[in-house]
Amino acid sequence: MNGAGRRRFLKAAGALAGLPLITPLLRAAELLPPKGPRVVVVGGGFAGAVAAKTLRMASRDLDVVLVERNRSYTALPGANWVIGGSRRIGENRLNYDRLESNYGITMVYGEALAVDVAAKNVVLEAGTLAYDHVVVAPGIGFRSDAIEGYVPAETPELFPHAWTSGEEIVALKRRLEDMKDGGLVAVSLPLPPYRCPQAAYERISQIAWYLKQAKPRSKIVVLDANPGIAVLAELFGRGWERDYKGLIEYRGGQAVTKIDAARSRLVTAAETLRADVVNLIPPQIAGALAQRSGLVGADQRWCAVDHTTYESAVASGVHVIGDAVLTAGMQKSASTANAQGKACALAIAGLLGGRKPRPNIYSDVGYSLLNDREGASAIAFYRGEGRQTVPLERGGGASPDWSELEGVYARAWLGSMIAEMST
Ligand SMILES: Cc1cc2nc3c(=O)[nH]c(=O)nc-3n(C[C@H](O)[C@H](O)[C@H](O)COP(=O)(O)OP(=O)(O)OC[C@H]3O[C@@H](n4cnc5c(N)ncnc54)[C@H](O)[C@@H]3O)c2cc1C
Repeated sequence: MNGAGRRRFLKAAGALAGLPLITPLLRAAELLPPKGPRVVVVGGGFAGAVAAKTLRMASRDLDVVLVERNRSYTALPGANWVIGGSRRIGENRLNYDRLESNYGITMVYGEALAVDVAAKNVVLEAGTLAYDHVVVAPGIGFRSDAIEGYVPAETPELFPHAWTSGEEIVALKRRLEDMKDGGLVAVSLPLPPYRCPQAAYERISQIAWYLKQAKPRSKIVVLDANPGIAVLAELFGRGWERDYKGLIEYRGGQAVTKIDAARSRLVTAAETLRADVVNLIPPQIAGALAQRSGLVGADQRWCAVDHTTYESAVASGVHVIGDAVLTAGMQKSASTANAQGKACALAIAGLLGGRKPRPNIYSDVGYSLLNDREGASAIAFYRGEGRQTVPLERGGGASPDWSELEGVYARAWLGSMIAEMST
């Protein structure tokens, strides 16, 4: 870390409201003496869990430690289907026991407070973990300052985003169940980059499917900060016209700038809307650990990396993967998080073995369900070129229409993604 980076880290670390003072933490004892060259991975989501597993598959000599705040993880892909009723949330839950027993990954459960780049350790409340390389995969946080009246500790209770864990979707579904028939649901979407825009339009479809079955006199108003449907526009447009005409009212170019949660109101430049249930998905930034460790770039939102090694642009030996990464045009998705986890792990194993990492080609496959059966998918290919990801010409496309076969593929894809990160 250069001088500016170190100052940014200390400033961010010192500002950790409610957490113990950072100075004693920096002096805290090593939690686990390294058993060999060590890679610490922080965050056991789609990016981090796959990175940890791939590191051990690439080299059994590596001491791989995975730090995760929760003992279980509830995946977001497929969690929207719980709203529509075609999946149980339990099918999305996993734990890390088999990563330990099958791959010899050492699990440490707890909150990583910061990465101290100068000392080359990860700081937890109980002590520190020394590393040769660290992989930071903390997912996302929210830019609550972008919406007047948004209180991070309170607003998600009243206006659930259901955007950081599958468990939150159960609470959103409960609100829909409690709403009277004839009620109004508002869904607010931010401008990209944000986590999986395709899932936002799937969310609207699944709410519509639920309302159509259970509360047919109800309605959804979509307040989208984007001028039009941003992903699979033709397919979502056609599907909504066929199945949800009059039920979904889509309003593009309507960024929510202010809220009055107590009175259930959303304000845009054009209107003030009162709704019975509000699903407010705020603008996003890299997860708090990246912010606290001084890893975000000039945009103050995302982490710039080298797309061959996923090494941070501001801190050597620190790699950032998953949704926290700045990627031009590449969707923040479980699919890309998985691909980045593998690429990063192989690059680190190569670097530790004295081999030069090779540039990567990535694919991003995204499935969505329109209702309880019919799915559609999009695929895109990218080449990592230094700090950029460049879409491959003629690479990718979308399924021609909604079909039951794509619905079957969607479920199979999800099953293998969950199995890959947990078994
Ligand atoms: C409703 C919805 C549906 C989606 N559907 C799809 C889909 O169909 N296909 C697709 O490809 N993508 C989908 N996505 C996107 C996908 O869920 C994310 O892109 C993916 O989870 C990103 O993985 P990640 O590892 O970067 O972050 P996460 O999955 O958020 O994992 C981050 C992990 O880090 C842990 N963590 C964070 N900070 C700390 C800390 N300081 N200390 C310890 N642990 C920490 C967290 O507990 C978490 O386990 C969907 C997203 C949503 C919201």
